[in-house]
Amino acid sequence: MQFTEKSKQHIDSCRFCWMCHHVCPIGNATGLERNTARARALGLSMVARGAIEYSEDIINNVYECSLCGGCMKDCVTGWDPVMFTKEARLGAALDGKLPEYVMKMLENFAAKGNIYGTEKNPNIPVIGGGDILFYLGEDTRAKGCAKSAVELLKKAGVNFALLGDEPISGYSLDFLIGAAAETKAVMENCAKTLNNYKKVVCYDPADAKVMKREYKEYGVDLKAEVVTFTEFLADLVKSGALKVKKSDMKLTPQESPILARDLEELDSMREVLSACGELVEMLLNKKDTVLAGNLIMNEYMPEVMEKVAEGRWVNALNMDAKILVTACTAEYELLKKTKPEGVELMKIEEVLLKCL
Ligand code: SF4
Ligand code: SF4
Repeated sequence: MQFTEKSKQHIDSCRFCWMCHHVCPIGNATGLERNTARARALGLSMVARGAIEYSEDIINNVYECSLCGGCMKDCVTGWDPVMFTKEARLGAALDGKLPEYVMKMLENFAAKGNIYGTEKNPNIPVIGGGDILFYLGEDTRAKGCAKSAVELLKKAGVNFALLGDEPISGYSLDFLIGAAAETKAVMENCAKTLNNYKKVVCYDPADAKVMKREYKEYGVDLKAEVVTFTEFLADLVKSGALKVKKSDMKLTPQESPILARDLEELDSMREVLSACGELVEMLLNKKDTVLAGNLIMNEYMPEVMEKVAEGRWVNALNMDAKILVTACTAEYELLKKTKPEGVELMKIEEVLLKCL
């Protein structure tokens, strides 16, 4: 297993540091030291030095990270565990050492066009026309539902297209095997379709993140403007295309780490929710937000994912949240599964539909 000099430097800086262990949603869910950035770095530093093999246990540990960036955000010295963890995943792929559960998802992708191996959802309508593409993404098509979102866009009079054969953005492959040739090929294929539109509205922040960041980093030619669904909704409210009546709902945003940290989008969700009701902030919010769930990891560590979501519910209840609002399919699905009594869970589009 080869690491770049940059990764080796970050690994060596993290391996004896304890400073960010308290922010890791996975470490907090499992209570295990192995799930901290430091422990992962310690194992990888020995692999990088050739002192130990890139063993099954170390590779599994590399896949126990959600890449949420909580540690990186907390790091006052600017070291980046997400970067070296992704590089370690790419290394496992190149060395032919991917765990069975990752291989299974890649086989699903080859056979069915999505890592979950689901059949095409017949309930998703195909809508043609317009120069705006509403991009649902792999998580939503396989595991979620965007019915309310489609209804809302129609009510706002948006002329948009929804594809029957939507190409995969590359988010899942980037998560599983990083910057491999396969990931880049999938991204290039997707960009060809996206470039038929002026604007692409991504329902799931995960797809917006790869289109806005990794496409650029990997040299994928994307001409279409990419916006998040939350950003698009905030503009519809501001322009008056969605005429919102303020309600007495108390709304607490669960902002996904991808929106807050990777895309640095901190205002859109708050603007929408403030127009719809009273904004009640979450414990640990904005760039300090905590992951509430990841559907890819739910395929191979579902108990831990449930604990991650339960932890976020505890944070919400500590702030006396009445309605927790999400804008991310993975977080919504995991929060729904673990929802306690006496508190509501809504998607941002459901909140808006209630206030029209
Ligand atoms: S990311 Fe920063 S705080 Fe966390 S282990 Fe590495 S050096 Fe320490
Ligand atoms: S990226 Fe997130 S899950 Fe991974 S070590 Fe850092 S805080 Fe933990």
